[in-house]
Amino acid sequence: MNTAQQLLCPAAELRRDASIIGIIPPDGKVSFFGKPVPAVGEFRQEAVRRGHAERNFRFAAPCLGAQCSKWKQGRCSLVGALVHASASNNEILAQGEPHCGLRERCYWQNTGGAKACQACRYVSSDARLPKTVRFSAPPSRREQAA
Ligand code: SF4
Repeated sequence: MNTAQQLLCPAAELRRDASIIGIIPPDGKVSFFGKPVPAVGEFRQEAVRRGHAERNFRFAAPCLGAQCSKWKQGRCSLVGALVHASASNNEILAQGEPHCGLRERCYWQNTGGAKACQACRYVSSDARLPKTVRFSAPPSRREQAA
């Protein structure tokens, strides 16, 4: 069993040790890569120059554990929110798990399983607001009917 520190946070900011795991298109639904790509070289330089890369890409980097504001009671509090979102939203469930190359090394997948993956495509982080992670899932059928 991997410890949190051996696993990767899939909603990291563009740190020096980050890899790109997906692109966030205008509709906000992440398109994941089959394999993480190190965020280095010209990509990194250009992303840093433009700023706010987390609005357009998802990055993975080693889990910060207790140094992260989302770490509560010895675990990442976002995992429970993702699992709950999947379990309570038919729109998310219907889409299944994305094809994502991070799977074996992902903290969320390792601790939240398939339900965490199903909701993961709706997550983006925003470096303008330190350690802020946004979750923009489609409304459930119940919400749409209300
Ligand atoms: S939770 Fe699943 S879909 Fe999201 S980054 Fe981890 S392995 Fe990929």
